[in-house]
Parts: sequence; structure tokens; C-alpha cells
Amino acid sequence: MAGRIRDEDLEAVRERTDIVKLVSGYLTLKRSGHDSFSGLCPFHTEKSPSFSVSPTKGVFYCFGCGKGGDAIAFLRETEHLEFTEAVERLAKEAGVTLRYEGDTPAERRAAGKRGALHRANDAAFDLYHAMLLQGHEGEDARAYLLGRGFDRDAWVEFGIGYAPGSADFLLRRLAKSLSTEILVESGLAIRADDGAVRDRFRGRITFPVHDLSGRAVGIGARILPGGRDEGPKYLNSPETPVYRKGDVLYNLQRAKAAVSRSGEIFVVEGYTDVIAMSRAGVPNTVATCGTALGEGHFRLASRFAQKMVLAFDSDEAGARAAERAFAFLERFPIQPVVLILPEGLDPADFVTRHGGEALRELAKGAVPLVEYMVRRTIGRNDLSSVEGQTAAIAAAVPLLEGLTDPVRQSEYAHLLAELAGSPRARWSWRSSSASGVAPSRSARRSSAPRRRSGSSARCCDCSPATPTPTGASSRSSRTTTCSRLATASSSRCFGRPRGTWAPWSPPPPTRRS
Ligand SMILES: [Zn+2]
Repeated sequence: MAGRIRDEDLEAVRERTDIVKLVSGYLTLKRSGHDSFSGLCPFHTEKSPSFSVSPTKGVFYCFGCGKGGDAIAFLRETEHLEFTEAVERLAKEAGVTLRYEGDTPAERRAAGKRGALHRANDAAFDLYHAMLLQGHEGEDARAYLLGRGFDRDAWVEFGIGYAPGSADFLLRRLAKSLSTEILVESGLAIRADDGAVRDRFRGRITFPVHDLSGRAVGIGARILPGGRDEGPKYLNSPETPVYRKGDVLYNLQRAKAAVSRSGEIFVVEGYTDVIAMSRAGVPNTVATCGTALGEGHFRLASRFAQKMVLAFDSDEAGARAAERAFAFLERFPIQPVVLILPEGLDPADFVTRHGGEALRELAKGAVPLVEYMVRRTIGRNDLSSVEGQTAAIAAAVPLLEGLTDPVRQSEYAHLLAELAGSPRARWSWRSSSASGVAPSRSARRSSAPRRRSGSSARCCDCSPATPTPTGASSRSSRTTTCSRLATASSSRCFGRPRGTWAPWSPPPPTRRS
């Protein structure tokens, strides 16, 4: 980890950054005074400009939402960068060489190596891209991409390239500027057991991968059908000090503005899905890079989006991803929904056939991850018998136990009961805490009118023999006399306290009035 940036360098960055030029890259500014420009605020929705910039002071301020600060703050806010990332970006623009306090020689060496790994990847991107655009050997790759609906504009926008079949295409060209060690460590070249070094990517279409700050970190390479390479369909750069796949989402550096604006991020499986969707007008699309959707991806996505649409081409792929995603459900402030595309189409084929707008429409009906998991779990059971229904519910209850919001938990409990075909849904959870699961809507409809207040209030659904004092749970403030009774805010009976699932047993008949 590099140390703190020296104060005088920070000052130099602030002084040499033209804040009007910087802000103008994101919105239209008009002069509104001798030292002020104004425009529509990029941080909140407005129709008349309340966002103003002072070039001499080097600051911005929005009278609408109150956001303000210097050029560093503006870049951090718009691009969702860490402080150091924003400063480094501006320093590069302004031509300021940053020095860090307290860098040890080892840290300086590590920073130097990271820089070399970025340069190596950058150089490889350029060489492969040039080969695709005009190389003689790129002919088949060009024909393949055009055949799949990716035109030259797409190649340029996404920096797509072609790695020719020879073993030393890259090595020969980069040997002068980069050491063999760096080329091997970056994963662009591999060293065989006999010590011979050759290019890793041969006869493949290449997709450059960047980190959030737009630095070159790795390559995803697809085999060219009919080519000489007989390896796996996709070959990816290995993990390196600059490429940790669990913390990188392909295309996020490009997509983040669109993701922030819409609050929604589409996660697909392949590079070509991302490119096709983006070109079809769904720019807020990313993919994992040959690795399972994990914690780092959730952390990253939740910095920009409130909703994550997992868009997959088959139920099986969707199910696998959904199951993995479920582990992170309550840990990040983002709601995952599952979109299974019809006709077995992958996202790229779908948007090619039906357009991006149709995909957006379809995404509106995407199923929340919990519901998807509940449906899937229930679907594995034979619901024609009481035993089957019981088993289905028992299998699905653990899914709901992880939910921290009791209202959602209760909603899903109803869904679960209904899906399990248990029409009166008389089941609940049992443990020492006071939260639990309510019977289904149909069960509530069929029960007697409930009374909600007064000391004689009694839960009509679970009919506890004795009203339980409040304070038995954190929900007590929303509970009337009976802690099991419907709460005012959720209007619902929480049945027995939560815990292990237990078959419902009938209440004493005289209790129900
Ligand atoms: Zn504002």
C-alpha cells in the first residue's frame, strides 16, 4: 500500500487542475458571473441549474442538494473513486508527479511492478487490437465477429483484439520495452517446464479487462472457431498483483456512470453479452471474468447500484449463480433479481433479436432472488401429498431465516405456503425469540375477523393460550398485547416464534370467537 500523498503534491494537483474543464466533461456549463459557471447538477435531478463552479476558487457547489468541494471531491463523487485514485487521475492529467510519505523501498518496488504490469497489459491490448483492425492474420477473427453482429465500431469501443497463432507475436514486440519476467508475471506469456517462454494467447479473440479506474489489468480470450487452438473456449489472464478477479467486474469502468444514473446493474456471463447489451442500449451491463459471482463483486456493484439484475441464458446457469449470490443477500445494500431469458437465448442473442428495450421491459418482471430460490426449492418436491408439501416447506424455511427484515420474511413465508400448495398453510416456526412466520394470505382470509387492540386482543391465527407480554422481541414496539399478534405496521400475525419448522397443531377450539 502506498503511503500518504505529500501535501505539496496535493496542492499542486489542486492548483493545476482546471475545474471548469473537468466538470465540463460531465455536464454543460454556462458562464453566470465573473467567477462562476452554472449547469444542471450531476448529483440530483433538476430542471433549472443550481450547480455552480468557481474557477478561481477551484470549487463547485450545488444549491439544490448541497454537494460541494474541490476538483478531487468532484471526480470522486462522479466516478466513485477512492481519494488516492482521484488524486492520481488528476495528477496524471495535470502532469504532476506524486510522491508518497513513508514509502519503504519494498513498497516502491511493489508500486513499480504494478505499474509495469499495467503497461504490459496496455501494450498487449494495443497490439492485439491493431491486429484485429488491420492485421493480415486477423481476417478470420474479423469475419467471425461480423458474423456475430459485432461491427468495427464495437471493436473500437471495447478494444477487442486478435492474438495471432504464433508463439512469440507478443514476446517479439514487447521484449524491448518490458522484461520477460514482467511478461510472464502478467500472464501474457508463460514459461514452460523446459524454461522456454511463449505467448499465452494464440489464435484467440481478446477482450481487454480494466479495473474500476480504467487501468489495464488482464485479458479474456475466446477461442476462434475453426482456429488451431484446441484449448478451452475461454482463456483468461491469471491472477496477478493488479488483477484480482474477485474484485473486478468486466466493463464496470465504462458502465459505472450509467449504473449510477439508473441504480441498476445487469450482470451477465460473457464478454460478448456485455458488448451486445451495451451496444443495444443497455450500457449498465457487466460480467464476472471467468470466476464465480462473489463477495467482492457484490461490494463493488453495491457502490453504484441498488438493484442487481442477474441475466442468464438458462435456468441451470441462473440457478448456480443465484445460489452463490444468495450467500451475500443480506450483507450488501443491493437487491438481486433473477432474469431468465426465454427461448434459451443468451443475453447477446436476445438483444440482437428483440432489442435492448425489450430486455429492459423483461427485466422489470425479474424475480427477486429470494423468491427465485423459494420457487426453485419448492419445485424440487412432489406437492401432491402432505408429506411432499411438508418436505418442501422444511427445505425452503432456511432460505427465509437469513432475512433480517421481518416484513419481507413474513411476505416470503406467505409465498412459500402458497407455493407449497398448503392452502390453509398452518405451519410456523418455533424457538425462543418472538419473530416467526405467518400463515398464508388465504389462511388469514379464511379466519375470523381479528381484533387488534385492548388487553383481550388475541391472535386469531395462532391463538396463543396466553397473551405474551411485549418485550419478548425487538419487535415489541410494534406489538400490541400479544407478541404473536399482527403488528400495526405489518398487519400480520407472526405465529409462533421463529426457529425450526414444526407442523401446525390446532388451537384450542374455544379460543376463536
Ligand atoms: Zn445537486
